[in-house]
Amino acid sequence: MKIILLGPPGAGKGTQAAGIVEKYNIPHISTGDIFRKNIKEGTELGKKAKEYMDKGLLVPDELTVGLVTDRISQDDCKNGFMLDGFPRNVSQAKYLDSFLQKTNIALDKVVNIEVDKSILVERAVGRRICKSCGATFHIEFNPPKENGVCDVCSGELYQRADDTEETVSKRIQVYLDETKPLVNYYTSQGIIANINGQQSIEKVFEDIVDALGSEK
Ligand code: ADP
Ligand code: AMP
Repeated sequence: MKIILLGPPGAGKGTQAAGIVEKYNIPHISTGDIFRKNIKEGTELGKKAKEYMDKGLLVPDELTVGLVTDRISQDDCKNGFMLDGFPRNVSQAKYLDSFLQKTNIALDKVVNIEVDKSILVERAVGRRICKSCGATFHIEFNPPKENGVCDVCSGELYQRADDTEETVSKRIQVYLDETKPLVNYYTSQGIIANINGQQSIEKVFEDIVDALGSEK
C-alpha cells in the first residue's frame, strides 16, 4: 500500500498514521519528524530547517524533496510506504510524480483528512507528543491517563516548539495557500479519498480503512 496523508496542521495525520502503518505494515515517512530529528541532533539540515519551522513556513523544496525520494528508494519501502506531511506544495507533488514514474511506482491513495479551520488551532496548541515513542495526545480531546506521561511507553510528553497559537495560525495560512491546491491536484488523478476528520479518532480510522480496503 502506497499512501499519502494530506490535511491541514492538526487534522489528525500523525494520530491516524500510527494505526495505518501498523495495519498495513508499512514505514511511516514524516518529513516533519525527519526535520525535528535533525534539529535534535544539531545537523546542518536541522539548523537550516529550524529557521523556517520556527516561523511556520515551509522548509525550501531543495532541502526536502531529495530526503523523501532517498527514503522511498530504501528496501523497506518496496511493498509500500506512507508519506505524512509530504508533498506540501504543487512543485513537491510534481517532483514526486516524476520520481514515481521513473521508478515505476504507483500511488494507491491520497487520504485527505478534512477538518474545519476553526478547530485546528485548539487541536495543535493542545497537542502533546511522547519524547520516546512519538505517540500523540491532546490535553483535552485525547488526554493521557497520567498528566505528562505517555500511555504507551511511560515516556515524557512535550509540546512542539511550533505549536503556539501564533505559529499554528501561520501554518494554517501556509496550508491554505500552498498545500490545499493538492486536493484538486490528486482529485484530478482520481486517487483521493476525502475523510471527515471531525469525528472520534476511532471513527476517522474506520473511514480511512474503508477507503483503503484490506489489501496490503
Ligand atoms: P497532524 O499530524 O495532522 O498535525 P495530529 O495527529 O498531531 O495532527 O493531531 C493534532 C491534535 O489533535 C493532537 O493533539 C491529537 O491528539 C488531536 N486529535 C487528532 N485526531 C483527533 C480527533 N479525531 N478528534 C479530536 N482530537 C484529535
Ligand atoms: P509537520 O510535522 O508535518 O506538522 O511539519 C512541521 C514543519 O516542518 C512544517 O511547518 C514545515 O516548516 C516543515 N515541513 C514538514 N514537511 C515539509 C515539507 N514537505 N515541505 C516543507 N516543509 C515541511
